[in-house]
Amino acid sequence: AKARGKACYQVFETRMHEQLLDRLDSESRLRDAVHRGELRVDLQPVVEVATRRTRGVEALVRWADPERGLQPPGAFIPLAEETGLITEIDRWMLNEACRLVREWQRTAPESAPAWVSVNLSAANLEVPDLTDRVAYALASTGLPPESLVLELTETVLMRDLAVTATRLEELRELGVRIAIDDFGTGYSSLGYLRDIPVDVLKVDRSFITGLAGNERQQQLVSAVLQLGHTLGLKVVAEGVETEEQLALLAAMDCRYAQGYHLGRPEPAADLMRRSAAVSVI
Ligand code: C2E
Ligand code: CA
Ligand code: CA
Ligand code: CA
Repeated sequence: AKARGKACYQVFETRMHEQLLDRLDSESRLRDAVHRGELRVDLQPVVEVATRRTRGVEALVRWADPERGLQPPGAFIPLAEETGLITEIDRWMLNEACRLVREWQRTAPESAPAWVSVNLSAANLEVPDLTDRVAYALASTGLPPESLVLELTETVLMRDLAVTATRLEELRELGVRIAIDDFGTGYSSLGYLRDIPVDVLKVDRSFITGLAGNERQQQLVSAVLQLGHTLGLKVVAEGVETEEQLALLAAMDCRYAQGYHLGRPEPAADLMRRSAAVSVI
């Protein structure tokens, strides 16, 4: 039994060792991914419910990992956050998203989105020159500030209300807007809606899934929409997957929606091509 225990321990130790090597390997390859041009931006439409027109897009990162193929953010963002690489990834995304949408607005203004949303992980709020980075992305691409939305999750916003409010105020002075991502999933005290300057609420997908046939959930979403509108915010319903969900949201005066039913994330060039074709008709 003792021998078996030892063998087991060795197997365990070997596996730990392999996992560690694997992690170090992923980390160094992720570190190089930005410089090697392996990151990619997908854009997902944000649609005006009443007209079904694309009004905005959200920029979502993908990693074309030469070893493992195209990776969704869930496969590398956690590692990027643990290692601090995330602020470099977010900076690259910010510049690239601004560039792509500016180019779209310039070449096909009639089909181009009015705004692009970029996700910022928590660590960005500790980057001393965050405001300069955002200003640089706007100045170097020529994207109008009102065309940029920065998405932060509630948990990020609630960490230190006073500090966060100051940082966001600085950003808003550039003319960009702030969105609360995954609204409703944090332990929201609602206090931050009073203290923090925000412009957009993105109602988390978990509130939209199962909306049909759940009256309580409908009342909750309806109340969030009213709250947002009363505060003068734009409210976007995330993760709309069915026509039924969209109809329910429309009946609640939801103005903006995003989800597979309205358009999946795809490379900017593909979305531009299809949007141009639609706007000609
Ligand atoms: P998120 O910001 O909540 O982005 C929405 C996610 O939901 C995207 O997944 C999108 O593809 C997915 N989605 C959209 N519509 C639907 C739908 O109708 N049904 C379902 N089931 N899913 C839908 P994705 O691209 O895998 O991104 C996952 C998360 O990774 C994002 O969640 C965001 O938190 C993070 N992320 C993505 N890009 C970046 C980035 O550039 N920087 C940072 N810091 N985080 C990012
Ligand atoms: Ca987001
Ligand atoms: Ca979200
Ligand atoms: Ca999310």
